[in-house]
This record gives sequence, structure tokens and C-alpha cells, in this order.
Amino acid sequence: MEAALVWRPDLASYDFGGSHPLDPVRVTLSVSLMRDYGVPPSDAVLSPRPARDDVLELVHDAGYVAAVKEASAQPDRFHPRMGLGTTDDPVFRGMHEASALVCGASAAALSAVVEERCLRAFSPAGGLHHAHRARAAGFCVYNDPAVAIAAVREQHPGLRVLYVDIDGHHGDGVQEAFYDSPEVMTISLHETGAFLFPGTGFSDEIGEGAGTGYAANVPLPPWADDECYRLAFDGVVVPLADAFRPAVVVAQLGVDAHHSDPLTQLGLSLPGYRWLVRRIVGLADGLCRGRLCALGGGGYSARTVVPRAWAWVMAELLGVDVPEELPETWRAQVRAFGEEPPATLGADDAFELPHARRQQVVEKTRAAVRETRAAVFPHLGLTP
Ligand SMILES: [Zn+2]
Repeated sequence: MEAALVWRPDLASYDFGGSHPLDPVRVTLSVSLMRDYGVPPSDAVLSPRPARDDVLELVHDAGYVAAVKEASAQPDRFHPRMGLGTTDDPVFRGMHEASALVCGASAAALSAVVEERCLRAFSPAGGLHHAHRARAAGFCVYNDPAVAIAAVREQHPGLRVLYVDIDGHHGDGVQEAFYDSPEVMTISLHETGAFLFPGTGFSDEIGEGAGTGYAANVPLPPWADDECYRLAFDGVVVPLADAFRPAVVVAQLGVDAHHSDPLTQLGLSLPGYRWLVRRIVGLADGLCRGRLCALGGGGYSARTVVPRAWAWVMAELLGVDVPEELPETWRAQVRAFGEEPPATLGADDAFELPHARRQQVVEKTRAAVRETRAAVFPHLGLTP
């Protein structure tokens, strides 16, 4: 099988409710658009099971899992702690089950790829990269990318995993989970923590102990555009991946770096996003016989941008072309939410800064890339 979608409808129960920006409609409308396009075929959909406690506890403290369960069972009586019960991570009934299911989905995607039941897999409900060992953060309860990586490495000790994160925010929780490991390399491209949550992800965060040189970050300036992402990807991700020689690539494909996103100030276009995803697919093709596990992530233009990005990702992973013209059936669903649907899948999307401003942004990006290369490359025997 070329590529699998890991999905079941109750993954949408990861829902903080109210006007919380992480509205599950971002994922359900993505899967709807995939289906309207006919990608993937029905026999390529894997239905996951929730991750067991012992699997969650490869990454999270048992005391934290117990607190999530307590909040989940009696949200009205829960005393806020460990990041739970905050504005970003309000508690809700069934929170543990929903969060464990997201972890199960991403773990199923990664193990299907590693065990070669499919070449590539996509878990669009996953990518909750901000959760810490004993603390919820940034709309993330359990860290499904870290749980999936830890779980597959339990089954396959020594497996070399390259984690690439193109979400608009730093992939802090995943970096933290493997900070001292030379067998899991984490690379994150994101808007600089000087201006944006979670306030980390600087060039000098490079791993520790035996893991020194196996974490890399490119903090991009506000309004970094397609060209900036190209500089960061070619200047940092490609040479590090080549040097690392992974057995599998895990990619967090958050789409909140998009220029329309309400929570970030970045300038990526949908064609720029496609270029990045194609490059990640190409890295896996070149380095690990195509083995790629794609996860969702952020993205808060929930009805207009995220579904277009992720339906395109699924088609790309399957290696099929889909028309730019969006299916009317899907556009009608967006209209039912009171929003005017876009007309195309996004090849014509663009973002442009005024010339002088853009030159500054590109220069700042070049400086960030230089700093990251200087900090990380010597540890891997590479010339900065
Ligand atoms: Zn994000």
C-alpha cells in the first residue's frame, strides 16, 4: 500500500469546546475533502485504538496521566494544575480518552510505516507537539508525536527517527522528550520564540549529553515567507538529515505558518507549504526508502486553509493528482458554517511583503540559518 490515512470519526472528540481555536472541524473538514476527492481509497484507512497507559507513560509521568483522567471523569470538580484547566487547555469530559486516541492514531501511523504495512501514513488529528512530561500546554494534553516515536522505539530498539516540524510554533515538547538522545533527531522551523508561544526554539538549543547536535531549531522572523522557508530547509534540514541517516521520518505538518493564520505572524503560502512537504517526502525517499509518517498540527484558518493543505498532503502521500477546483459538495459544507469557501485547492495562493520589508525578513532568516548551522553542524562533523 502506498499510503494510509489513520482516522476514525471520534478523533473529533478531542474538543475543548466553546470558541477554542483548536476546533475539530479543522480535521473533520479535512477528511471530508479527502473523501470528496476520493483519496485515499477505503481500504487504505486504518482505524486506530487509544494508546494504553503504559504507552503514554513512555513519555508522560504517571501522576500527570492520573490528573488527566481525574479531569476527564469529573471536569466540574477538577482543581486546575499541571497546565490542565487553563484557557489554552480547559478540561472536558472524556479528555483522557480523546487524547489517548490521538496518541493511538499517531502511533498506529508510525508503526504501520516502520513495519512496512504501508510506505507512508498520515494521522491528521495528531501533531500535538507542545505537551510536556507532566504539563499540558498550547492546546496539547498528551504529546502524540513523542508517544508514537517512543512506542515504536520500544518495539524496535535503536531505530533512528528524524522528526521534522514545520508548524508555525516551536515543537518544544517533542524536542524535550528526546533532548539527550542521539537516535532521535528533532528539527523545528518556526516563528521565533522572541515573539511567539512557547517562547523557545532558539538556535542554541541543540540537545544535551549524548544528544548534543541532535536537536536543531531555526527561529524565523515574523512574516518569513516561502523563500525564507526554502533557505531554512535547504540550509539546515537537508544537510542534517543527510548526516543523520534516519530509518524513518516523522513530520509534523501544522499549517499555522500560513499567512492568513490568526495565531501567528508568518508568510508561508499554500504553494510554499506544498514545496516543503514535497521536500520532506523527497528526504524520506532518498534516505529511508520513502518511509514517512505525517502528522497534523496547528492551523487556525480552520475551514478555509487547513482542509486544503491536508487533503493535498494525503493526495501527495498517495502519489495521485487531484484537481485544483474544489468539489462543490465540500464547498457547500464550508458555506453551511457561514463562511465563504475558497474556489481552489491553493496553487494560486500567494503572499507578498513590500520589497524593502521583505529584504529585511530574508536577511534575518539568513542570519538565523547561519547561527543554527554554527551551533549544530560541528557536533556532527559538518562544516557550518
Ligand atoms: Zn502551531
